[in-house]
Amino acid sequence: MKQLCVIGVGYVGLVTAACFADLGSRVIALDIDKNKIDGLRRGVMPIYEPGLEELVERNVHAGRLSFTTSYAEGLKETDYVFIAVGTPSGDSGEADLRYVESAAQSIAQHIQSPLIIVNKSTVPVGTGDYVAEIVQRHQPSPIPFFVVSCPEFLREGSAIGDFMNPHRIVLGSLDHDAAEKVAQLHLPLRAPIMITDLRTAEMIKYASNAFLSTKISFINEIANICEALGADIKEVAVGMGYDNRIGPHFLEAGLGYGGSCFPKDVLALAHMAKEKGRHPQLLQAVIEINSDRRRMAVNKLREMVGDFKGKTIGMLGLAFKPNTDDMRDAPSLNIAHELLKASAKVRAYDPVAMGVATSLLPEVNMCPDAYSAATGCDALIVMTEWNEFKALDLERIRDLMHSPKIFDGRNIYDPEKVRTLGFQYVGVGRGYK
Ligand code: NAD
Repeated sequence: MKQLCVIGVGYVGLVTAACFADLGSRVIALDIDKNKIDGLRRGVMPIYEPGLEELVERNVHAGRLSFTTSYAEGLKETDYVFIAVGTPSGDSGEADLRYVESAAQSIAQHIQSPLIIVNKSTVPVGTGDYVAEIVQRHQPSPIPFFVVSCPEFLREGSAIGDFMNPHRIVLGSLDHDAAEKVAQLHLPLRAPIMITDLRTAEMIKYASNAFLSTKISFINEIANICEALGADIKEVAVGMGYDNRIGPHFLEAGLGYGGSCFPKDVLALAHMAKEKGRHPQLLQAVIEINSDRRRMAVNKLREMVGDFKGKTIGMLGLAFKPNTDDMRDAPSLNIAHELLKASAKVRAYDPVAMGVATSLLPEVNMCPDAYSAATGCDALIVMTEWNEFKALDLERIRDLMHSPKIFDGRNIYDPEKVRTLGFQYVGVGRGYK
């Protein structure tokens, strides 16, 4: 049985650990956050991810998955150590590598036998070499190790399915044998495996996220033009998506991208380019268009209710997308702050993100359900396209509101139907609707 250590029990690390355990490896998941590890030992998940609790429980029960805060324990008899720590944005948009550096130092101090270090964190091009340098420098005595980049492409909300059925596995290393060994670990996933050099693998992750973000900003730009010209972005996207050179995915106009990956990764890629004297024009436009979406939402609400002072706005959803409790860089944060700054009262409901959101938005009145969030409101904004919002009793919502107005920031409703119920309805990019 292969023995793996996964460093970091966040969205990527915990899913990686549980999935590899499920595939038959013995996995120790390690984190410096004692609360998270204590919780996991009691069966309490540190994050919300569909199916994760059952997967963790099954593999802990089978004796294949355990948790620790100790590097000495984590690296004991381990063949592979996966780094899955956060790489948030620094002040100038660069990726902040402090957690990766600290993990690499700890690995160096506790390495006991030859090891393959697999980096799953999204890191600037060149970080694999940097990690190797740190480990080399901090080792008490020289023990051989290899660094392999294995960027992660899973999506929060469908992370287990994405991990188990990846579109591809990208591996980058200066040592082909080490990459081959990591490839063997991934064989049960039956995905195409691409082996390349370290820097190229690191770049593939950034280029992929930047491309997807570009698609989102593109469709949002087209939505703006649709509004001005009287076309419907939803149907435009369907018509475009039939073309297999374009494809139907990532063509939903709305409040723009958010979360813990796209915003920071596009910024980091632009930063890397600028550091090398390049002018990342397209990436700058992608970032600018995305920031404008949040301003656009506040402006549309203002057009609907007038001066915000004394008005109550209800938010349906807070997470940056459905099926996650991740609030990092969620559009709801900026929009709520702007509304509160303009003296509006804000009520909100999210099926899973309110626990995390409460401390980030202490002035927002968190409500037990969508109907409560709508009560007494002058307008509602659909912030997150949770399925449960698609099936709401809108007549009940209408009767609970002070004035029945909906800004559908995710285009989940049929404008005609909602208007027939007596709402003022505004969607995104729906020119004549
Ligand atoms: P996260 O913030 O959810 O989890 C990171 C974990 O690492 C935390 O629990 C933290 O306590 C722990 N940690 C920090 N420093 C540590 C150290 N020195 N030793 C041990 N543990 C340490 O992060 P995440 O969302 O899982 O993202 C991890 C990486 O994967 C990032 O680089 C991210 O860009 C990338 N990624 C994320 C996603 C996603 O959907 N979240 C998808 C693909 C790639």
